[in-house]
Amino acid sequence: MKDQRSTFPLPLSSVTGTTRKPGTPAPVATPQTATQNAARTAAHGQGRPAPPPAPGPSPRAPGYAQAAPSAPAAQRSELAASEAVRRAMVARVARQGVLDPKVLAAMETVPRHLFIEPALSAQAYIDASLPIGHNQTISQPYIVARMIEAMRAGGQLGRVLEIGTGCGYQAAVLSFVAKEVYSIERIKPLHELAKTNLRPLRISNLRLQYGDGMLGMPQVAPFDGIILAAAGLEVPRALLEQLAIGAHLVAPVGGQVQHLHRITRTGKSEWTSETLEACHFVPLRPGTV
Ligand code: SAH
Repeated sequence: MKDQRSTFPLPLSSVTGTTRKPGTPAPVATPQTATQNAARTAAHGQGRPAPPPAPGPSPRAPGYAQAAPSAPAAQRSELAASEAVRRAMVARVARQGVLDPKVLAAMETVPRHLFIEPALSAQAYIDASLPIGHNQTISQPYIVARMIEAMRAGGQLGRVLEIGTGCGYQAAVLSFVAKEVYSIERIKPLHELAKTNLRPLRISNLRLQYGDGMLGMPQVAPFDGIILAAAGLEVPRALLEQLAIGAHLVAPVGGQVQHLHRITRTGKSEWTSETLEACHFVPLRPGTV
């Protein structure tokens, strides 16, 4: 993959240009609502043989609540069933090309069904985004894994920032991959929903913030990684400035047609940008509601 050298401020073309060979058609992600997406996957996904479980141990963070061996039998069997489907989800994500064992182990640990409203929880482990209210979605498992893998790039992550907490799922996964996680959400009821969803997991290294993520968190910066879970036409300048030198920011960029970008800060006033793959995210919006 070819890097584009850029000097701050990044010109729009440097974060929207693709690295495809001339003449190759753009891989366009079909804009689809989470509901359509879920319905499609449910229709085609059921009755498929379960993929083999992914190898490797699951990480355990300090303070992460586990169901005690003394939990009631019904609760234990529900837990075992959710662990089996989660392993299948992770195996599928691995087959889609995510190789980072730390990311896969984190995905295997976080109970995705706890982040989805009960009426949809049967679909919690299919590879689709799902509605979480307020016209927002929980991201597709593959894209969550892919973004974290791209941000981590095999390195150790100290402090990371997520823009767009939504229901809190990706923030929970991040908490098993990084030392300290900060996540910002601009819609108050979703910020509250994420707090409610995350409370039983008792994750001690995650801080949720209600606010406009386009401004980042200058009081906590610099970050060893930044992920945007919503797509803007360009990456906000404040976030580029809050990236530690050598760190990666991963973000969907675009409108109807979007691509995942990885921006690396290579110096005080220097960033490089790579285009990864087509994607489809909800829009990044300024301000709070
Ligand atoms: N991280 C989520 C996906 C959330 S969807 C997951 O775990 O699956 C994207 C979220 O970004 C929405 O909740 C939306 O409200 C939020 N968002 C959009 N613009 C934002 C901004 N400027 N600051 C913070 N959050 C924003």
